[in-house]
Amino acid sequence: MVISEEKIGKRVVILGSGWASQSCIKIINDKNPEVDSITVVSPLNYFLFTPLLLSASVGTVEVRSIVEPIRSTNPFVKHIEGAAYKVDPFKKLVHIEPVLTHNPNNVTNVTIPYDTLVVSVGEEATTRAVPGARDCVFQLKTAEDAQLIRRCIVDSFERATLAMQSGTKSWKKDTKTLLTYVIVGGGPTGLEFCGELYDFLTDDCGVQYPEIIKFSKVVLIDSGRTVEKDPFKILLKDKGLERLNSRKRVGLAKQRVVAVEGSGPKGDQPPFLVKFESGQEVNCGMVIWAGGTAQRQVVTDLMEDLGCEGRRLPIDEWMRVTGPHCERGSILAMGDNACFTRAGKFGLPATAAVAGQQGPYVARLINRNYDLSVKGGPPELPSFSMFHPKEAKPFEYEDLGAMTYLGDDEAILATNFFDNNFSLQGAIAFLLWRSVYVVKQVSTRNRLLVTMDFFKSKLVGRDTSRF
Ligand SMILES: Cc1cc2nc3c(=O)[nH]c(=O)nc-3n(C[C@H](O)[C@H](O)[C@H](O)COP(=O)(O)OP(=O)(O)OC[C@H]3O[C@@H](n4cnc5c(N)ncnc54)[C@H](O)[C@@H]3O)c2cc1C
Repeated sequence: MVISEEKIGKRVVILGSGWASQSCIKIINDKNPEVDSITVVSPLNYFLFTPLLLSASVGTVEVRSIVEPIRSTNPFVKHIEGAAYKVDPFKKLVHIEPVLTHNPNNVTNVTIPYDTLVVSVGEEATTRAVPGARDCVFQLKTAEDAQLIRRCIVDSFERATLAMQSGTKSWKKDTKTLLTYVIVGGGPTGLEFCGELYDFLTDDCGVQYPEIIKFSKVVLIDSGRTVEKDPFKILLKDKGLERLNSRKRVGLAKQRVVAVEGSGPKGDQPPFLVKFESGQEVNCGMVIWAGGTAQRQVVTDLMEDLGCEGRRLPIDEWMRVTGPHCERGSILAMGDNACFTRAGKFGLPATAAVAGQQGPYVARLINRNYDLSVKGGPPELPSFSMFHPKEAKPFEYEDLGAMTYLGDDEAILATNFFDNNFSLQGAIAFLLWRSVYVVKQVSTRNRLLVTMDFFKSKLVGRDTSRF
């Protein structure tokens, strides 16, 4: 089915409803008479506040507190709930497969035309390099992942209780295995999940399952091979790993995972066996994967059509995709799926902070009606304006620093204060971390819910019901 309305002005199509898209949609407006329609295409009809996903995976906050329906972000924007599976950059069409939970067989694919396409589909989690990992590990990327992890941690405690009650010879060994949690990835996500899991085990599971809590252990695996260039991240990682390693029930292993094996007929059930390059092995009840992302298929195909090379869509300083077969200005890209090609901005990290600044930049280019098709130079205003420069300014990223929660009401943050590097660790950093994430929520509703969740989990503990 092709959805084509009578064309009056420019049709803008935005792919994705993540950090880059949400921050773009939030400020895009209907004041530009040249723009006919703005349509968001995403398999999710909500925005997910990923920095608190790790807290949600142990119940410190509820998943519903950190999502915002995309339709409430901006009533001027239309939404199609579906995954773009193919972009035709020559006919300027996006082919979409609708995503429906009820009666999913009874839907037809949809095709929509565009004049300006904004690609912000992010990246997907991958375990491709490690045999067996795909079927055995838990990912940390979506709201469903967080819910599943929360359920399975409680499940492992219930299974361990059964093992204890069975009184078999091997019950201690079985319980220890079930309550060993291996986190693969020593980056900020792995560190933060380790801190959250430590809190959950200590504060809640310790109270609910007092007889078996002594058998629980968190093993954080850091291959030590990722070379961090960002001084903030180096600091966070070094000090964070050191702090976590000093905790009871937490162990750090400098190892590289080469295979994961599961049990059961399909090999996807606990206990799992994690094999390392050194030949060592560890038995565990859960493996949580906190590292490794890959390009989405729709981006791979688009890059091939445009003659682009590399891992991400190459963009110029004005976020325009620069492939040899790409009509200049017809496709923009932002967020994790894009990468600057010119000097100086090569190494921008794939973070919410970057995506959240690129979105509003693109929205302003569209709101102000810059002509994006100017070749070899910046987009220009078609007519004189008293308020905006004739030539669009290039995108500039403002680095506000980084922070990571380490569990036990401690965090670590690093920032640049008047050109001086400044870092803070401990309880004050923890209060700042929580305050920033409350303020950064995208709506008053989320701000209220997250604040209440933080108080609730502190005062009455996290919910360990499994459903
Ligand atoms: C657990 C976790 C914790 C994180 N913590 C932090 C943090 O503390 N600080 C920080 O700066 N960054 C953090 N990040 C990184 C941050 O979330 C990403 O850098 C950011 O989400 C990138 O934004 P994006 O818009 O490019 O992609 P995403 O936010 O991933 O959004 C992609 C969107 O595209 C949609 N989509 C996917 N496929 C299609 C398709 N075929 N068609 C249409 N739409 C599609 C998705 O549904 C989604 O809505 C974290 C990430 C994770 C997973």
